[in-house]
Amino acid sequence: MSDERVHIRPDIAVLPAYKQGRQAAADAFKLSSNENPFPPLPGVVQAVQAQTAFNRYPDATALAVRAELARRFDVTADEVHVAPGSVAILHELAKATSGPGDEVVYAWRSFEAYPGVVTVAGATSVQVPNRPDGGHDLDAVAAAVTERTRMVIVCTPNNPTGPIVTADEFDRFMASVPSTVLVVLDEAYAEFVTDPAAVRGGALIGRFPNLVVLRTFSKAYGLAGLRVGYAIGPQYVLDAVRACAIPLSVTAQGQAAALASLEREDELLERVAELADSRDRIVAALRDQGWPVPDAQGNFVWLPTGTGTAAAAEAFEAAGIIVRAFPPEGIRISIGEHEAVETLLETARSLVGDLTSAR
Ligand SMILES: *Cc1c(COP(=O)(O)O)cnc(C)c1O
Repeated sequence: MSDERVHIRPDIAVLPAYKQGRQAAADAFKLSSNENPFPPLPGVVQAVQAQTAFNRYPDATALAVRAELARRFDVTADEVHVAPGSVAILHELAKATSGPGDEVVYAWRSFEAYPGVVTVAGATSVQVPNRPDGGHDLDAVAAAVTERTRMVIVCTPNNPTGPIVTADEFDRFMASVPSTVLVVLDEAYAEFVTDPAAVRGGALIGRFPNLVVLRTFSKAYGLAGLRVGYAIGPQYVLDAVRACAIPLSVTAQGQAAALASLEREDELLERVAELADSRDRIVAALRDQGWPVPDAQGNFVWLPTGTGTAAAAEAFEAAGIIVRAFPPEGIRISIGEHEAVETLLETARSLVGDLTSAR
């Protein structure tokens, strides 16, 4: 039997599939995937419902969405690329820049998708440990760049630990990385950032020939289920990315929802501000309990539960809260429904004595 199997690339045969945050039982809160707890706005639902020509392919270039984003970022539509989620763009960027023998450098722990993206492209991951406070050690990331490096991914705020990269840190970093190396600034949670020192991709556009900024409609805009992400960057890089893209994969429904969301941005950003407030209150309460929670600038908080991570995740689940466990480091809890906060804090309080000593 084994002789008759098709040849799978050995690096792919051992690559685990992307693991989704656990689905929650009907009466539990799903705080495991950094989703937006608010339902879509009525106008967004109607815009999607108006797209019923399922027998037709969508606009392959998502031109209307690109044109609107181009207007907002003051670039041309060719300097914008829209894809089914920014994870798709990460794959496209890796394929466009990196292959066997090439290295992709990123801080770790960071977004779960990065290692797979690099392996699928055939390239090699170089992971640089985060600082003890959970933030990127960008000087060490820069120092890990060699003549084999083709791409560096910077995630701010960092999923799952929470801290941002500052504008000053990022400036210094860009000055030390050769302009032949692509730098990807993954800002999936940019809209939740309230720290004025944070780097803002939008302010850097046009300054560097080797910088691509990644954003998504999945988190702040609450469209995770419709799969729309985008990149802003130099046209020559995005042309290469477009050559690597699977054509026609952003649906007409996704495009309509993205446009309708941009039209209703003020209303959506009010919700984002509410979630950021809730995040700040939760972080303050957890720190009062004694948890050394890193700065949280996304829509999630990190509890460094160490070797007690699996037990802590089970305790939250027993209390009706599904979290994301990263044993043996910690757990990530998304900022979700207000109704979940009290239970979240009670459960954390019940764990803090055991677990801070188990770190
Ligand atoms: C959620 C997330 C993304 C993107 O998700 P899409 O739904 O594919 O747009 C990208 N980067 C990070 C760090 C994320 O957490």
